[in-house]
Amino acid sequence: MRAITWDGQRCYGCRSCQLACSVHHSGSFWPERSSIQVRRKPRAGTVEWRIDDSCDGCPQEAVPMCIAHCTYEALHLVELTDDAA
Ligand code: SF4
Ligand code: SF4
Repeated sequence: MRAITWDGQRCYGCRSCQLACSVHHSGSFWPERSSIQVRRKPRAGTVEWRIDDSCDGCPQEAVPMCIAHCTYEALHLVELTDDAA
């Protein structure tokens, strides 16, 4: 089982991870079908990033789609043992 962790200090809010995940799930750019939702808050200078239970860890990919498309290296893969999953 795989999990994705987010580093808010590195995230720019570009939403590439959200779009990449939607392609994984639907085969098209469909942000609402993503396991990840990203929202930039320009006034506050912050980014909200959420991942939900629909994330399957992209088991067929050597590197999960969201991580592969995050050029800011804000996402990281955690391999969970059966005990932790
Ligand atoms: S692709 Fe990376 S930098 Fe862009 S919103 Fe996702 S986590 Fe943040
Ligand atoms: S690991 Fe795959 S399913 Fe999970 S958030 Fe990333 S792209 Fe989406």
